Amino acid sequence: MKDVQEIKKVIGYLHEEINSLENHLKNIQDKCDHQYEENNYYKKCTKCQQIKVLYF
Ligand SMILES: [Zn+2]
Repeated sequence: MKDVQEIKKVIGYLHEEINSLENHLKNIQDKCDHQYEENNYYKKCTKCQQIKVLYF
């Protein structure tokens, strides 16, 4: 079926896009001079939105 092939092609393309965006985001977060805001469960950087879960 042509539809299935088209859909799979788009899914494959989107996966590549997501991987590329995640790498890009990771690069930004790696270089960020973090400024965290904390609540009881996690702290989140106000600049790059990186979240670190707090363990007790
Ligand atoms: Zn940050």
